Amino acid sequence: MKPVYSVVIPCYNEEAVIAESYRRLTQVMQGMKEPYELIFINDGSKDKTADMLNALAEKDSSVRVIHFARNGGHQIAVSAGLDYATGQAVVIIDADLQDPPEVIPQMAEKWREGVQVVYGKRRSRAGESAFKLKTAELYYGLMQRLTNNAFPRDTGDFRLVDERVADVIRGMPEHARYLRGMFAWAGFKQEPLLYDRDKRFAGETHYPLKKMLKLAADGVMSFSDKPLKLPLWLGLFWLGAGMLLALVLVILLIAGKPGGLWWLASLMAVMGGSVLTGLGIMGAYLARIYDEAKGRPLYIVAETRGFPEEI
Ligand code: UDP
Ligand code: MG
Repeated sequence: MKPVYSVVIPCYNEEAVIAESYRRLTQVMQGMKEPYELIFINDGSKDKTADMLNALAEKDSSVRVIHFARNGGHQIAVSAGLDYATGQAVVIIDADLQDPPEVIPQMAEKWREGVQVVYGKRRSRAGESAFKLKTAELYYGLMQRLTNNAFPRDTGDFRLVDERVADVIRGMPEHARYLRGMFAWAGFKQEPLLYDRDKRFAGETHYPLKKMLKLAADGVMSFSDKPLKLPLWLGLFWLGAGMLLALVLVILLIAGKPGGLWWLASLMAVMGGSVLTGLGIMGAYLARIYDEAKGRPLYIVAETRGFPEEI
């Protein structure tokens, strides 16, 4: 039977938290009194995660487990979970209990009222280093600027989405996946739900600086072509400055004053500006090729009315 709720939980070396996440998730989901499934993705863990998940699947028929053959990364693990989810609403939640499962019923309530994407928005973040808080703030600020405020701030992957929205994400074949961006891009009725982000229940973060930077870069590059076009503006500036200087020099020359080394400066500005402008133009084309290559759907239909029944 098709469950009402699917919960997608990516796990990478989470032996220290799985028992507790399972316990709290089960408690919450059972309290909601509707059929549900818990989809755990074992993202190529090297510890006892695999065995523990298998044991859960054995004793509980609402548990499903997907074992990856290798580590694919958090965003890929969540994407796989979305592909396998069959529920009418899909919840994405971290295994480490930083996202409190107890918030899920509130998300579901909003969903029942017709909100198709209920995203968790962090009111506070416990137990995170000052460095992480500061970099997160800077990053979200930059993203807002680069994407003209297309993304909500302080929002991670913790969310509940309608199956129609999950379907849109399933139909986006891009490899560099920045899911929170993809969800925002999909449209539909979206609303935040404020929550307090907890400390990790146990174990350590699997998002070292390198992975964070990759995620940050994926976010910028998948949703903004401004960096590619930056050379165009720089180039036009220097080209203009060089030509203006040349004009001034010509006037001075007519007035009988040779420009000397200033001619060289003008030539350099014009040349440098031309090269940069050329790069910017290439960037503009590249942005188009990239856009086509992403193969995103052309439009997203929320619903249709008045069509005769499909045969
Ligand atoms: N995760 C994963 N694959 C990875 C890294 C992380 O599936 O390569 C999972 C991890 O098990 C957790 C979630 O993604 O459920 C978030 O990771 P983590 O808590 O380590 O990141 P942080 O909260 O510190 O940003
Ligand atoms: Mg975490």
